[in-house]
Amino acid sequence: MSPPDAGLLSLNTATTRKQWSLAQAVAGCARHGIRGIAPWRDQLHEMGIQPAAHAIRGNGLTVTGLCRGGMFPAADAAGREAAIDDNLRAVDEAHALGARCLVLVVGGLPEGSKDIAGAREQVRDGIAAILPHSRQAGIPLAIEALHPMYAADRACINTLGQALDLCDALDPRNEGGLGVAVDVYHVWWDPQLERQIERAGKARLLAFHICDWLVPTRDLLNDRGMMGDGVIDLPRIRSWMQHAGYAGFHEVEIFSELDWWRRDPDQVLETCKERHQRFC
Ligand code: ZN
Repeated sequence: MSPPDAGLLSLNTATTRKQWSLAQAVAGCARHGIRGIAPWRDQLHEMGIQPAAHAIRGNGLTVTGLCRGGMFPAADAAGREAAIDDNLRAVDEAHALGARCLVLVVGGLPEGSKDIAGAREQVRDGIAAILPHSRQAGIPLAIEALHPMYAADRACINTLGQALDLCDALDPRNEGGLGVAVDVYHVWWDPQLERQIERAGKARLLAFHICDWLVPTRDLLNDRGMMGDGVIDLPRIRSWMQHAGYAGFHEVEIFSELDWWRRDPDQVLETCKERHQRFC
């Protein structure tokens, strides 16, 4: 496969969150010629939504996604309402930034619960509650399936097939505004991955997150690898995405307490660019 278009690289700011504020990450992308950025809401709030939108637009960057909405399940109705309110605000923030989607990390089990089926129902109901508003705002909701090791505490949607079943349930006529974020870290192992990417198709493939799976993985959350350092066949997965019609950005998202968060962030961005060309 020929190397990817360098212009499709996007920086998910989780990759430099220990070194850089959002303002610094925006400036870093501009300095390194990276055309896409995906901010996290905590850093967005620190910077202020209007200043961030202004800086991002001023540098001609595309917001490939806002991270993140979701976290719908809660132990009681008040908690579920609060989650829905927060997601409605996240939609508005994504709109202010002109984001291509709002990424949903849907949430796991409520405190004290062992009812994962119930948690999944709460996720379905939560997305249903915000979908009219997100559609009106023109912000597609991208359900991100997370690796099953996060089912209890982060996301009880764990395969792309399951995420697409949810899309089918909430949007049976495929009217749009709802789809998936494909993060290779979470789904690379899935024997159904190719088939499910094909099933999603262009309309529901809203984001593509890249990094690598290290062997061994030393931390369940914060030991993601740089592209090329692990076992994920990135060119193959990119070819499936492209074959299915995805023409969007390739967003580097690396949580790395032990390695990349300790490096000079300018060097991290240089490495992202080089590895994107060599290994994606
Ligand atoms: Zn991701």
